[in-house]
Amino acid sequence: MKPKLRSVWVFHLDTGACNGCDIEILDVLTPFYDAERFGVKLIGSPRHAHAMLVTGPLTRQCYYAAKKAIKAMPPEPRIIVAVGTCACSGGIFYNGYPIYRRPESGREGKEYPRRGGIEELIADLKDDGEKVGPVIYIPGCPPRPEEILYGIAQLLGVVEKKMKEEHYTEETAPFMLQEYPIEERVRLTLRERLRYVVGYFDREKILDDFMKLVEKAKKSENPREALRELINDYCAKEKDHRIAFCMRFLESEYWKVKGEYEALSSNKTVVYGI
Ligand code: SF4
Repeated sequence: MKPKLRSVWVFHLDTGACNGCDIEILDVLTPFYDAERFGVKLIGSPRHAHAMLVTGPLTRQCYYAAKKAIKAMPPEPRIIVAVGTCACSGGIFYNGYPIYRRPESGREGKEYPRRGGIEELIADLKDDGEKVGPVIYIPGCPPRPEEILYGIAQLLGVVEKKMKEEHYTEETAPFMLQEYPIEERVRLTLRERLRYVVGYFDREKILDDFMKLVEKAKKSENPREALRELINDYCAKEKDHRIAFCMRFLESEYWKVKGEYEALSSNKTVVYGI
């Protein structure tokens, strides 16, 4: 097979890694593995880079810096190499509070199945009309130097990719329907979604407070209006604006989640995308 690239200048970008992957990248450049024999050269500026080695799950803090760095690369070939499970899909930080996620709208279906990792940013860049070249994924926590070399060999066109791209969509789990009453399932789902906006420390208390308000609101003739008023009162007294934000978030999610579970219980079709 004819190599596509003879020498590649790569820029290394850490988007919130634990440094495990970064150490492996350094390993690959040592004389033992010697990635430079393939013409791979680590450089200090994205402006001259053919490829970007990305490590880490793309935290919110890193989002704008990473975007700027990729935009600074020449428009071609602009290859992205996601090194490590975190960069590929969020890894152990998948779906976590500090991880950047695209807004909910437009991500249903199989197009953007991940929540975490560089793919979120690539999708944003494509939306901005930016060109992004091939993306190479090297999973592993961290990937072994041999695996990184294998990824580099793919980048150079020395070896062909053996795996095929696959998408999956999370289906509803019908067995859950019989197991738990709706309110319990709603609570568990809200608990999971609250992770998007608040850390673990405050989550349980905020959710408990919210569920108490829901119980109160249920006693009135118009629970939706009653819940709105109770939350307005709660937020007016709450000094921490982050908690007030969480309450409003829970309120909007509550009606959505409840509606979905009720529809499922009455056998109406509800399509879920990740
Ligand atoms: S994939 Fe593993 S080693 Fe690499 S940054 Fe994530 S947690 Fe660290």
